[in-house]
Amino acid sequence: MSESFVIIGDGIAGSSAAETLREEAPDSDITILTDEGEALYNRILIKEYAKGKLPEAPVSIHDTSWYDERDIDLHLNTLVTDIDVENDQVETHEGETYGYDKLLVAIGGTPQQLPVPNADADGIHHFWTFQDARAIREHVEQADRGVVVGAGLLGIDLAAICGAQDLPSHYLMRGKCWWRYALSEEGAEIIHEALRDIGVTPVFESGVDRFETDEDGKLVAAIDPNGERYEADFGGVAIGLDFNTELLEDTPVETDTGIYVDEYMRTDVDNIFAAGDVTEFHDTILGERGQNGAWGSAKQQGTIAAKNMIDYGSEEFRWVSSYSITHFDFPFLSFGHPTMGEETVERKHSENEWRRLAFKDGKIIGGVLIGDLSPQSAYKQLMREERVVADQKDVLMQKGFSVDDLSAPQKQ
Ligand SMILES: Cc1cc2nc3c(=O)[nH]c(=O)nc-3n(C[C@H](O)[C@H](O)[C@H](O)COP(=O)(O)OP(=O)(O)OC[C@H]3O[C@@H](n4cnc5c(N)ncnc54)[C@H](O)[C@@H]3O)c2cc1C
Repeated sequence: MSESFVIIGDGIAGSSAAETLREEAPDSDITILTDEGEALYNRILIKEYAKGKLPEAPVSIHDTSWYDERDIDLHLNTLVTDIDVENDQVETHEGETYGYDKLLVAIGGTPQQLPVPNADADGIHHFWTFQDARAIREHVEQADRGVVVGAGLLGIDLAAICGAQDLPSHYLMRGKCWWRYALSEEGAEIIHEALRDIGVTPVFESGVDRFETDEDGKLVAAIDPNGERYEADFGGVAIGLDFNTELLEDTPVETDTGIYVDEYMRTDVDNIFAAGDVTEFHDTILGERGQNGAWGSAKQQGTIAAKNMIDYGSEEFRWVSSYSITHFDFPFLSFGHPTMGEETVERKHSENEWRRLAFKDGKIIGGVLIGDLSPQSAYKQLMREERVVADQKDVLMQKGFSVDDLSAPQKQ
């Protein structure tokens, strides 16, 4: 009898798992269930769509014929509401059940709402889906003033969308700089200047205490904890994701902020796997649990999960994740786990050129590069090799750094 695989989620993790399963288990039954109304699209590109720089078509990756051609049974607009581990089946919002031999949970996360009054006012947007991007684009095009909250990688997308659409905006941040867990004020100032150049004003030691609305419930202003009032009819909030672990709540699958999986993407229930943003995986490079929120990582996890669903233990997930920002006229890249670690080193090389590395047990575990991305492959190589290099920080920070510049390798 052919094996049956059910995948929850048609993001890049779920979709690449389906592709690998079909390639490597040609006779299997493969079903994908997704609550979205469209097949896989490029989540990275939806910001370019919202900026008004791209039409819809290039954002889409697969149309439904892609699934038909591969005999993958895709169900759109189908929310999975229950996983019945005893009977190896999932149930949908319409009461349909789908039995599986192996299940892949690739359900990502959901943007968090600010826990403040009027956080759901008309005019306040969160950003995760193509539908969100359509609503943001339409609104930003006709808005007069914007306010953005959330000093991280998605918040800056919202700020850049406002800038690209010539919407004068305030970007309210809690600390003294953008992405304060990964950048120092000196590094972040390069980003702040670039934001100012596109008409977005960063405001530090700020945030939102409450939103004000008019009598129709429409956003009119954000009030920050210092009592400052920022008028806005467009609001963008990106303060983080809640990973969709509640689906696993009544199952023996262990979860914390994400779903626990081993390096083979298997949960602690033998025939249930997970992949993508939702996983807290055993990171063989970091030596502890890690969580990535990046396209390339989710894609690779989907592929690795599929291989191990077919043949458990066949290939482990070992990956240095990276995430780039392309909103400005200089490049920006973060890689690995730049917000973790015990010590850091950083250097500014010129007006728009800065870099920083984070170390754990003397090894690089992540970093941020602004302006010059050329050392990225050397740093990633050192990460993969788990080389102890924290005693050579000056060499690592040199312009034009290459691995050969280091003294002989030590492995711990
Ligand atoms: C605006 C934006 C810009 C980004 N830019 C970058 C970038 O520049 N570089 C980068 O590396 N990464 C970027 N990312 C992050 C990247 O897109 C994600 O890391 C990646 O898409 C995660 O893929 P995933 O398959 O794990 O999860 P998702 O893409 O979130 O897919 C999960 C899917 O599961 C569905 N689902 C959830 N629960 C259920 C359920 N119960 N039943 C059925 N379906 C369900 C969801 O609706 C969703 O379609 C960006 C993300 C956004 C939103």
